Amino acid sequence: MEKLSNPQKTIEVIQKYEFAFQKKFGQNFLIDGHVLNKIIAAADITKEDFVLEIGPGIGTMTQYLAEAAGRVMAVEIDRMLIPILQETLQEYDNVEILNEDILKVDIGALVEEKNGGKPIRVVANLPYYITTPIIMGLLEKHVPVESITVMVQKEVAQRMQAEPGTKDYGALSLAVQYYCEPYIVANVPPNCFMPRPKVGSAVIRLRTHQEPPVKTEHETLMFRLIRASFNQRRKTLANGLNNSPELSFSKEEIAAAIEKLGAPSTIRGEALTLEQFARLADILGK
Ligand code: SAM
Repeated sequence: MEKLSNPQKTIEVIQKYEFAFQKKFGQNFLIDGHVLNKIIAAADITKEDFVLEIGPGIGTMTQYLAEAAGRVMAVEIDRMLIPILQETLQEYDNVEILNEDILKVDIGALVEEKNGGKPIRVVANLPYYITTPIIMGLLEKHVPVESITVMVQKEVAQRMQAEPGTKDYGALSLAVQYYCEPYIVANVPPNCFMPRPKVGSAVIRLRTHQEPPVKTEHETLMFRLIRASFNQRRKTLANGLNNSPELSFSKEEIAAAIEKLGAPSTIRGEALTLEQFARLADILGK
């Protein structure tokens, strides 16, 4: 079958099935073969790999993944797409389609069942309305993944890669960088999709660290501190921590911890590095 990355083929399939795009599912299908080749190359896929694709749509990226990978599992929420996928992927015997909401799938159990617990690769043109819960779900639950290569909204990719002290730096940057090394592969304009999204997009690859780049005995507390610091962006770190409903340290304990960290009492959370958040967690966790 001719590839769906050819826009004419995508239009033909959509018309044949009288498919109506669902905005609520973030349906913007890729129609650019160059972008797809870039994604596949960045994801480093080999025939040894088991790939999880989130939201295959009509199967455009799945066709490329099936050719590059050993096996592909594609999880799609929209049941109207299932008969279409059965046709567009019929040539491939290494693809399995699951009609499910990815946020309800136990991906850890799936990796165990389908890949004997060995790390998988996640590749997707993500539905943008749930980018953060999908990525954070994979990372926080310690699902065995080697890399996550995904199309996301451009601003979200910038936030994942942001350095301390910049305007994009926040809780998402710290969480992603604790678990992975992020790398923005390409910016992708709206005309590479059908229909065109209102926002710019970017492909980002997250390679998971073997060991986190910083060590803390109090990982959960560290993430609470991070969330508290960025909930009230213009406040000082001390005020952010004082006002957090997730934390119950006294003003004095917080002031002493910031002093022990060697930071000025007026420092803002956005100036702290991941390493400093880890140290702060160890000081306050004691
Ligand atoms: N991979 C296709 C492509 O690149 O052309 C489609 C990408 S489109 C941006 C996102 C896809 O995710 C849609 O097919 C949508 O139906 C699906 N989707 C949305 N929410 C989902 C969810 N909670 N679980 C699984 N799939 C979902």
